[in-house]
Amino acid sequence: MAMRRSREYYNLQGLPDDPGIIAARESKVRKEIHESERDPEMEQVLAKIDFEWLKHRFGRDLIHTDIDPNSLNFIPAEMFTVDRTLDHQGLYSVTDNHILANPDVLRNHAKRWQLPAELLWLWFVVHEEGHAVSKSDCTGMFGEEGDSPNYLLRRGYSLYHANDEDVSEEYDTYDILEEGLNEKRSRVIVLEYLQAHPDFVDRANTEKLKALFADDHRHKVYDLEISLVEIMIDHLSRETGVSPQTVWQAMLRGKLEGEDLARSDFQELARQFFSEKFLEQLRTEVSDPNKPLQALPLLKELNLTSVDPMLRRRIEARIQAAQPPEEELGLAA
Ligand SMILES: [Zn+2]
Repeated sequence: MAMRRSREYYNLQGLPDDPGIIAARESKVRKEIHESERDPEMEQVLAKIDFEWLKHRFGRDLIHTDIDPNSLNFIPAEMFTVDRTLDHQGLYSVTDNHILANPDVLRNHAKRWQLPAELLWLWFVVHEEGHAVSKSDCTGMFGEEGDSPNYLLRRGYSLYHANDEDVSEEYDTYDILEEGLNEKRSRVIVLEYLQAHPDFVDRANTEKLKALFADDHRHKVYDLEISLVEIMIDHLSRETGVSPQTVWQAMLRGKLEGEDLARSDFQELARQFFSEKFLEQLRTEVSDPNKPLQALPLLKELNLTSVDPMLRRRIEARIQAAQPPEEELGLAA
């Protein structure tokens, strides 16, 4: 059987889109980026990051999947662009297959953590590439009938159901799971990168970042989404007797292959391990980098008391750290 590609386009009938239409779309996006504002700091940092190393690192993960490693959808530095209107550091756009960054937000994060800007950029690049290299596809977006108001965008586990005519009909599924897995893996890859590139920043700053990743008392974006993934791994590993590492690999593989978790056979299997309510929350709750508590209802539904005590203490600290400042003040008062 032919291997699938890392990124694919289908029409509404589920058939592959015309390659000519896709090529035209890609060159339009490329031209727009070429003509857009360039941020000197972004250019400088992107030139410093070893994109070849990252590409190779992400490509390695595809070896054990049904996706052709040569088709890896890695975004080159020239496909990064600036968007200062974003209220967060940036995103990978499935539609345009490029990465948008807000240098102002990244600069603020660098200030907040007292880390060199390069490190925040590296962390950001790894996170967004992590989405891009996961199975992505656009269904019903282009095609000969012209742009359709209803289309589907897949990004790893997450599937976005668009409706351009009626925004109330738009929704995202499995978004929190996708973010948790993606960010958990990103932090591992960032540290691997720094080990392989000891001159990227000085050693003291590498150690500082490592300490930040390990510190559950300082809230970092998606700490609770990561916690969700860790509880799921802990739970599945206990229930099945399979090692946590193997459960993690299986979850990662599903993300890279864009596995459809709404499928009935998967749901039937998942009901043996998780409540109906949890599975429904997992499907419908949506993450937001500016709303750190989005994953909290899922953590509560999973019942922390049955979790490994050491992991439980770490997660309780993260939940505490994710509370908005007003509530922290309230607790202190
Ligand atoms: Zn993300």
